[in-house]
Amino acid sequence: MENFGIGSWLQRRRPKSGNKTALISGDRELSYEEFADRSVRLANALRDRGVAKGDRVAYLGENHPSFLETLFACGLLGAIFVPLNTRLAPPEIQFQLQDCGALTLVHARSLAGLAELGAAGTPVARRIVVGDSGSPAGEPAPEQGTTAVEDFETAVSAGSDQFIDGDVALADGAMILYTSGTTGRPKGALLTHGNIVWNCLNVIVDFDFASTDVALMISPMFHVASLDMGVLPTLLKGGTVVLEPKFDPRRTLDLIEKHKATIISGVPTTYQMLCEHPAWEATDLSSLNKLTCGGSAVPLRVLEAYERRGLHFSNGYGMTETAPGATTLPAARSREKAGSSGLPHFFTDVRIADFDDSPAAPGAVGEIQIKGPNVIGQYWNRPEASAAAYTDGGWFKSGDMGYKDKDGFVFISDRLKDMIISGGENIYPAEVEQAISELEEVGSVAVIGIPDDKWGEVPRAVILLRDGAQLTEPQLQEHLNGRLARYKIPKSVVFVSDMPRTASGKIRKAELRQQASNT
Ligand code: ATP
Ligand code: MG
Repeated sequence: MENFGIGSWLQRRRPKSGNKTALISGDRELSYEEFADRSVRLANALRDRGVAKGDRVAYLGENHPSFLETLFACGLLGAIFVPLNTRLAPPEIQFQLQDCGALTLVHARSLAGLAELGAAGTPVARRIVVGDSGSPAGEPAPEQGTTAVEDFETAVSAGSDQFIDGDVALADGAMILYTSGTTGRPKGALLTHGNIVWNCLNVIVDFDFASTDVALMISPMFHVASLDMGVLPTLLKGGTVVLEPKFDPRRTLDLIEKHKATIISGVPTTYQMLCEHPAWEATDLSSLNKLTCGGSAVPLRVLEAYERRGLHFSNGYGMTETAPGATTLPAARSREKAGSSGLPHFFTDVRIADFDDSPAAPGAVGEIQIKGPNVIGQYWNRPEASAAAYTDGGWFKSGDMGYKDKDGFVFISDRLKDMIISGGENIYPAEVEQAISELEEVGSVAVIGIPDDKWGEVPRAVILLRDGAQLTEPQLQEHLNGRLARYKIPKSVVFVSDMPRTASGKIRKAELRQQASNT
């Protein structure tokens, strides 16, 4: 085989475990054989429509087998798969489609409105529509304007079943994933096949993934965390993936029992919603043995809720650019190293650097820099951002601050851009937010710096209370007194009825700072 990329996985898996269930989606089950066959047919169909190596193919939809079939079909052709976040607004979709220059957009029928608006004025010339349950499969879709519109199932059945052994190397581009856009405009991270393979090996080695694993995918696959930390390593090992289109805590708890799921992965909010659901206590969770989580800090009370059920919840640290795993906390050390994001993954290195990019003194806070075969080599279309992202020695500059303890465990302080400097002291908002979120009344909290004549900047807490909860500023001050140094305690508190978030659920602090400067 000449294809060494991810597109070859299903073909390589076929003789070993063709009859095994690869995907479960609602009532539908696909064996590895069927999954491989459908991906090959789709690849041929795309090739018949002009898709060639290096071309971008975008996908807009919730978790569904067609997402993975499109990914693997692209992998067979050497085309670059671009998953789009379904929570984006039309102009944000437009920006990403324009930026990546995809000519083909595969999307769910239920998202046709968003797809049409998002594709308007972009290079997209063909839309391939996946019929959701409710709309008959194979129903031909109409021609619209200059964009060809056709049905996904029709395309798959029309494609040849001849395996395409394209020349695809590990260094070739496999996916463009847009960063969350927390600190600015999203950047397209160009992940090569090699980046994805090495990340999967990191996950398989560090979490002991096995062919007997059943991964329940409750977070959307357009997030690198669920796709690359959960779905792809499971498929590489020949396990089973259960795809859930929308996250619903009650249904998730039922599905864990029904499928005896061993793996779930998500962001802290997902885990929080599960353990706060009334059905949590009564659900049999004994099958679960790998719970991967990342993206932001986890409130301690959430960790404790899982510990009480005997479940270790591995908080990891990473980013789109590291495909995405950089560090993870091994289960055996979780108590002792509470609050740490753990050790670098097996094939990845992490160092702490000073502002001049030299290694920081042991234990000192500095920028977290990352090296390894999972780290991207460049952003798509962004030569300046790409050049600025690495040190001369080839370390990727994460823009996050943190430190390592004497045993090498990494602790994340916060983003450099969110750091507050008050009277010459550095304040990492994440630490203050962690202390505030210990209060049950607090639904979510962001701490931002407000310009101050005397101190330069002072911290302010922006709090969204839980429904029906009450909290006053003096109560908050009292909770923080003695817990945090005086200069870290917010000088003002604003209670809001809505928290501005990115499509991946992160709080837009830049927007909060902007609002504060306007008032
Ligand atoms: P952008 O780069 O566009 O501003 P983003 O950095 O939020 O957006 P992602 O790649 O989705 O885009 O997120 C990676 C970032 O998330 C990390 O750089 C870090 O700031 C934060 N993060 C990830 N894991 C953790 C963690 N375990 N604890 C704290 N912060 C984390
Ligand atoms: Mg980032």
